[in-house]
Amino acid sequence: MKLAYKERIAGRLTLVTSLIILAVFGIIYLVANVTVVNSIDRELGLETDKHRNQIFLVNGEIRFLHKDEWQEMEHSQIQLNPIFIEIVDLEGNSMDRSPNLRTNHLSFSPEKSARKEAWTLRIGASEVRQMQIPLVNAGKHEGYLLLAKSFEDSRELLDNLRNVLLILYPGVLLSLFLTMRYLAGKSIEPIRQIISKTNRITQSNLNERVPLVEPNDEIGQLTRSINELLERLEASLNREKQFTSDASHELRTPLSVLRGTLEVLIRKPRTSEEYVEKIKSAFSSIDRMSATIDQLLALAREEKGKFSVKEELELITFLEEITDQIASEQKRVISFQCEASAPIFVKANEQSLQMILSNLIQNAVKYSGTDQEIQVKTGTHNSIPYIEICDAGSGISPEHLGKIFDPFFREKDAINRSVPGTGLGLAIVKKLALESGIRIKVASEKGKGSTFRLELPDS
Ligand code: ADP
Repeated sequence: MKLAYKERIAGRLTLVTSLIILAVFGIIYLVANVTVVNSIDRELGLETDKHRNQIFLVNGEIRFLHKDEWQEMEHSQIQLNPIFIEIVDLEGNSMDRSPNLRTNHLSFSPEKSARKEAWTLRIGASEVRQMQIPLVNAGKHEGYLLLAKSFEDSRELLDNLRNVLLILYPGVLLSLFLTMRYLAGKSIEPIRQIISKTNRITQSNLNERVPLVEPNDEIGQLTRSINELLERLEASLNREKQFTSDASHELRTPLSVLRGTLEVLIRKPRTSEEYVEKIKSAFSSIDRMSATIDQLLALAREEKGKFSVKEELELITFLEEITDQIASEQKRVISFQCEASAPIFVKANEQSLQMILSNLIQNAVKYSGTDQEIQVKTGTHNSIPYIEICDAGSGISPEHLGKIFDPFFREKDAINRSVPGTGLGLAIVKKLALESGIRIKVASEKGKGSTFRLELPDS
């Protein structure tokens, strides 16, 4: 059977408390026992001292200081709390005893007499504490005085105390368990509310939040964490929706252009020049769609961690090669500048780094005029290897700097100037960089140019 959380808490607390209470009850009983026994032993000691001065053994005969007093004393009567007395010789043979002993004898233990120590024994049906002292006459040891006091009342008191504690114990435990169960139930009530609220949140009402009851305790922290999680989920779902709608839009635009071109072509017979022109326009729409699809695939592919394998690369040689390659492809002058005096070795995925750099260098080419300089720089700063791609082109306005890495974001001027692109290049760069632990910093000024700086993780 699976116990509810409140029952488990109450059970554990009760178990610990039961051990503590058991120890406390045990100590109470022990202290009461020791106190009662000590008190009887003290009285017994006083009685012994009193009788030591009244009874003497002289050459085997008993003498009393006040014989008549002795005969009238309490030990001749049956009392509620009687004192029993017996006089024995050195071998323990009884010489005289108080009448309240009737046919019984006290116990003879010469070894205990020296220590004036009391012990418990039974006389007939009743329990007594006994003490024994030597009787000495003119320095000669003649016998022993045995004295006992009833222990019945004290035993009754101790037994009552033990019974009360034993009856109280399960009662206290049961009430403790029930109280703790109730309190534990009360304390986890806010958690129940959180559970029922979160159970009601689905994709359709992801904007709802769990109400914050006690902001400063752990439950408040839990509520805040759940709400933050919901916030992240909602943002990611919105991004996903936005991405799907942007992607559909990006594909629909060239498709409509393609359809329009073909409709115009089919309407009536055209000259061969017109056919060539329209078919070229259709090709450019197809090229745009395949570029978008290629980049969408690139975004999806790297999510599966394809580029996670890293190998050692010498950065300077690698950058020289890639710069030359893109420069010849784009037919542009791209200067390479190395600010380090020794080779720079990094651990990176070559394909991923190549994709990042080709996106950034192609952007530098796209967003700057043919006469404007493009530079690729490398070096180390505080032993962190870096790469910079600088252009003196159109630059990015400050309000767009935070958005350029969002999928499908393109600056209006780029669209207006018909610069080819899909708005996915920097999103791919961001994802790849994140996967490889590369930090990207952008500095740009509208009309003056941009610098994209990559800081590679130290290998
Ligand atoms: P694309 O270049 O295909 O439009 P990107 O994701 O590569 O998409 O870039 C997003 C936007 O950021 C671009 O549309 C452009 O407005 C801006 N941008 C990126 N690189 C540069 C740059 N080097 N100079 C100026 N603007 C840039």
